[in-house]
Amino acid sequence: MPYKEDRATWYEGQGLWADVPASDWNSWGWQLRNRITTLEQLERYLTPTREERAGILFAKQKLSLAITPYFFNLIDRDDPDCPIRKQVIPRAGEMQLAEEEMLDSLGEDEHSPVPGLVHRYPDRVLFLVTDRCASYCRYCTRSRMVSNAQHYDFHPQHEAALAYIAAHPEVRDVLLSGGDPLLLSDGKLDMLLGRLRAIPHVEFIRIGSRIPVFLPQRVTPELCEIFKKHGPIWMSIHVNHPRECTQALKDACERLAFAGVPLGNQSVLLRGINDDPEVMKALVHRLLRMRVRPYYIYQMDLITGGAHFKADVRRGIEIIEALRGHTTGYAVPQYVIDAPGGGGKVPINPEYLDKITDEEVVFHNFEGRRFRYPLKSTPLVGARVPDEAAPQKPVSEPERVAEPIAEPVSV
Ligand code: SF4
Repeated sequence: MPYKEDRATWYEGQGLWADVPASDWNSWGWQLRNRITTLEQLERYLTPTREERAGILFAKQKLSLAITPYFFNLIDRDDPDCPIRKQVIPRAGEMQLAEEEMLDSLGEDEHSPVPGLVHRYPDRVLFLVTDRCASYCRYCTRSRMVSNAQHYDFHPQHEAALAYIAAHPEVRDVLLSGGDPLLLSDGKLDMLLGRLRAIPHVEFIRIGSRIPVFLPQRVTPELCEIFKKHGPIWMSIHVNHPRECTQALKDACERLAFAGVPLGNQSVLLRGINDDPEVMKALVHRLLRMRVRPYYIYQMDLITGGAHFKADVRRGIEIIEALRGHTTGYAVPQYVIDAPGGGGKVPINPEYLDKITDEEVVFHNFEGRRFRYPLKSTPLVGARVPDEAAPQKPVSEPERVAEPIAEPVSV
């Protein structure tokens, strides 16, 4: 069914758990303890399809099933194609492997000097602090290790990682990820952030987290105080569909923003979930209203059993074309492919440049109108050099240098 955006509504309430006291509902511990993690628990709330049933049974050896009650409420239980449902309820597609898929699709393990620390780029490191998340995304890039269903037995060595960072003065930026770093206790986070900020060459810290989306109750005033204390801290959250933008998420983002944490969003382009210009436009508009800057749309990594999520790259380009020029510039994320095997993020953008020579650049805008920008100056014949002594006329607006081209340019 095509997505219909209702701009005035932000989902709120306890939904299926309306009987639970608000003090429990708003406790992140309660949400974690009451996650849906088995087929039997799931069947209390919806009837899984055959595909889902097979996927759930297989999840034990691929990537565990876990959904917080808060996030489960966003699922349309009558619609097997619900875009929220497909993100967190396993399907049989996870059992199908393709030749191009990889266990470690970004080649992280071979760049890990210490377990859990990836040092691929000279000036920054990725610090995987845990292998646990509040809920598990079926397309997770790190499904080889996250939840430990594949017996990867990830044991982060925080002390060794801190020592490595301290010994490498070229590291100016540390990205905490996992799993989800915000699942660590306040005390542990306070310690880790404090230790990192005490390293003189670490200029700032970034956190990648889906906790605000799966478990906004975790974004407590106490946690925000910790971020205030150890800033600058930047955070990338992970929202894929406008229906994830609830009142609770909006409030959590506001608390983070008021604690001085700049927020960006990373979405993964997922087939049948958000590979649609109207869905993405509604999402980026909601993100800006939540004080979150759309940052990246990722083409899905080539993870094992992920083919059923893989969207067409041309669809991604179409989405960027539908945004660029048609809405606020802040709302337009970068569409990137993380190069398979570990080549880094490469922007995949629509082409606006038609020709570039020593004389000129020819390009077209979002409406398809073409323009010429001269690279060489052509002095006006007969123009008088201004007399320095004479009063100068103020220049009220910049010279117009890019002229629309009425006729198509041959390039
Ligand atoms: S929250 Fe992140 S790390 Fe956890 S399952 Fe989802 S994508 Fe993977």
